[in-house]
Amino acid sequence: CGIVAYIGQREAYPIVLKGLKRLEYRGYDSAGVALLNGELKVYKKKGKVAELEDFLSGKDTHSHIAIGHTRWATHGEPSDRNSHPHTSGNGKLAMIHNGIIENYAQLKQELLKKGHIFKSDTDTEVLIHFIEEIQASNQCGLEEALRIALKRVVGAYVIVLVDQDNPDTLIAARKGSPLVIGVGKGEHFLASDASPIVEYTKEVVYVNDYEIAIIKADELILKNISNERQTPYIQKLDIEL
Ligand code: GLU
Repeated sequence: CGIVAYIGQREAYPIVLKGLKRLEYRGYDSAGVALLNGELKVYKKKGKVAELEDFLSGKDTHSHIAIGHTRWATHGEPSDRNSHPHTSGNGKLAMIHNGIIENYAQLKQELLKKGHIFKSDTDTEVLIHFIEEIQASNQCGLEEALRIALKRVVGAYVIVLVDQDNPDTLIAARKGSPLVIGVGKGEHFLASDASPIVEYTKEVVYVNDYEIAIIKADELILKNISNERQTPYIQKLDIEL
């Protein structure tokens, strides 16, 4: 299982697709991408990355911001609808997740009572709805909603979010599952390990547990769960392709 994301001047989809192929060695049962170009488009399929690629061939994939995922199912059988990315009820947010939200059942009960309708059996979809619910009830931004949500989440995760209303920003967070950010010139690459990143940049930041990253093409902000800025520690990769 793995995650890949891109924001910058290049076409995002080919970079994310290639990155997902580089992460195939980790094992997975489904794959998907979300692309943002005016509106949010989500494509996901049970099976190999190559099947996702076939599914998208001929479609308009133009975008400068994209997230991609390979899933190793833990909650909900491998299927198209359980594949990631998952979306919020209003369809404006898309999220990918590796890991497990252990208290998802309790959160799901609370959200069902508030009228949320779920399209999958995953723990991941519960988290994206939970974030949406906090955003609506607290009238706050996505970053603040994510911070509040993560304080209640039990489990391990790396997540990456895109928001149709903020098309120049990716938001990511991790606890327990790895997240590497490649720092390029006016672009950023996110992945579960450095293998999808090395061909583009050798400068990387390893995100720590309980950190939230707010990523624009030309800016990387790291914060801890208490909303305090952290200085990104940029390391040089010494691996070659
Ligand atoms: N728990 C999530 C799911 O079952 C994510 C699994 C993964 O790490 O790929 O969909």
